[in-house]
Amino acid sequence: MTKKISMKVSGMTCMGCEEHVAVALENIGAKNVEASFRHGEVLFELPDDIGIESAKKAIDEAKYQPGEIEEISSQENVVLGNEGDYDLLIIGSGGSAFSAAIKAVEKGAKVAMVERGTIGGTCVNIGCVPSKTMLRAGEINHLAGKNPFGGLNTKAESVDMATLTENKDKLVEGMRQQKYVDLIDEYGIDLIRGEASFIDENTVEVNGQKYIANKFLISTGASPSIPNISGLKEVNFLTSTTALELKEVPKKLAVIGSGYIAMELGQLFHNLGSEVSLMQRSERLLKEYDPEISEAVDEALTKQGLNFITGVTYKKVEQNGNMKKVYIEVNGEERVIEADQLLVATGRRPNTGSLNLKAAGVEIGKRGEVVVNDYLQTSNPNIYAAGDVTLGPQFVYVAAYEGGIVVENALGAANKKVDLRFVPGVTFTNPSIATVGLTEQQAKDQGNDVKTSVLPLNSVPRALVNRETNGVFKLVVDNQTKKIVGAHVVAENAGEVIYGATLAVQFGLTADDLRNTMAPYLTMSEGLKLAALTLDKDVSKLSCCAG
Ligand SMILES: Cc1cc2nc3c(=O)[nH]c(=O)nc-3n(C[C@H](O)[C@H](O)[C@H](O)COP(=O)(O)OP(=O)(O)OC[C@H]3O[C@@H](n4cnc5c(N)ncnc54)[C@H](O)[C@@H]3O)c2cc1C
Repeated sequence: MTKKISMKVSGMTCMGCEEHVAVALENIGAKNVEASFRHGEVLFELPDDIGIESAKKAIDEAKYQPGEIEEISSQENVVLGNEGDYDLLIIGSGGSAFSAAIKAVEKGAKVAMVERGTIGGTCVNIGCVPSKTMLRAGEINHLAGKNPFGGLNTKAESVDMATLTENKDKLVEGMRQQKYVDLIDEYGIDLIRGEASFIDENTVEVNGQKYIANKFLISTGASPSIPNISGLKEVNFLTSTTALELKEVPKKLAVIGSGYIAMELGQLFHNLGSEVSLMQRSERLLKEYDPEISEAVDEALTKQGLNFITGVTYKKVEQNGNMKKVYIEVNGEERVIEADQLLVATGRRPNTGSLNLKAAGVEIGKRGEVVVNDYLQTSNPNIYAAGDVTLGPQFVYVAAYEGGIVVENALGAANKKVDLRFVPGVTFTNPSIATVGLTEQQAKDQGNDVKTSVLPLNSVPRALVNRETNGVFKLVVDNQTKKIVGAHVVAENAGEVIYGATLAVQFGLTADDLRNTMAPYLTMSEGLKLAALTLDKDVSKLSCCAG
């Protein structure tokens, strides 16, 4: 015969502690041990011939403090704590959600996560991971077909898109499992499957079941936004998600939009063999960037064979059989762009439609985004939001950073403000585009006396030996303090280069600081030092290693 015991235990702070307590009790013969650090409690069964004092001693020897003990009748079904109550309930399971959930569990909170779709959200399933692995494949195919070295004979054969896509799916599956799914049990997060909507400010409903929490995090991300163009809805178009599922390379791909997702996917399919046209309403590519960056990107990608059509007014879209036709007007002239596939990549809209935010007193902005203050708190102080749903910079590291801030503010008293001044941004084309800090115009608008240096890529030795010299480095420097306030790069591996520049901009390094560091010769990062030297020296007059 056994007796069922519930014992309060102090000193447990994590899942490791739960394990120690369980092992200590099992060693004296206890069965079905269930310890919870969150509730400071352990449930177990003890054979009648083992006294409760032995259990207390075992806990004590394991360096935890045994407390109140209760014997439970064997018919009673006890769960630890009230399973309906959460310290933090997170809606979504992407980058911001996981970052918040892990930090919250580490603080001892009881956490639930609600997901209506695939665990892991955008980045791992349909964003960063699948697009970057496919881009790498495209780049290799491009280089095989057009390598820049005389005497090196390579050629690109036809592309087996179905196999590429299948392998991409396997990679995604593995990374999703390892970086997201496995962590749910590892950290003891309660996963609730289904779509969440608020019924009042303390309660969400999922599949008819109500869940109450003290604090909430809305981290529901964003989805492709579809522009209002006549006929578009009747056409079988691709979004970034479905473009990455294609089993055949399109012969011709027309792209509506030319932001970072449009550029990456446009170049991907160009590199795999499609004839690609990217259309955009504004006159200049990447119009928020420095003009030198736009020019360098335009020149490099146009030389590679991508067709950019700017200053477009969309008239209508039609589909005949498989062919899609986009009727546009450019400089007063009517044109029709025909393609077997049409990709729409014109930004993303926040996923707030199904949340019934009104019931919780959460305000949304004009574009459907959750409005937050500097502490990522919504108009309801117990409800926070992080990541793409707030329409901040749409990068997974921003989402994760914000998820962390939410936990510090919601579960502690950190009063931590979100700081997005130094967010590096990378577009993974080749050459890639990377930027951090202020553009020249932004620095001027803030009243700074600005000095800039613009270094064409053919002044960077790494680019010369690579035989790929389309690109540019630009530094924006405050002329009074000499601090670098912005860095902008178009070059192979610009994404790697920008991390050094981020440290420089974030921690207030000056152009002299850059000049006084050693930059490894032949790296693309040397361009940062050369650009710093270019502020007051003609870099073409320097010898090797900027000496
Ligand atoms: C093609 C593409 C490429 C990208 N490449 C990069 C890159 O290289 N680097 C980078 O940093 N970023 C990249 N991004 C951006 C990055 O993926 C996002 O910024 C990031 O994933 C946002 O994370 P999140 O936590 O805000 O939301 P998400 O990851 O989108 O998660 C939101 C989750 O909430 C769920 N959800 C929504 N509503 C509800 C509801 N009512 N109930 C329950 N669940 C709900 C959704 O199903 C989703 O799983 C890319 C994006 C795309 C589309």
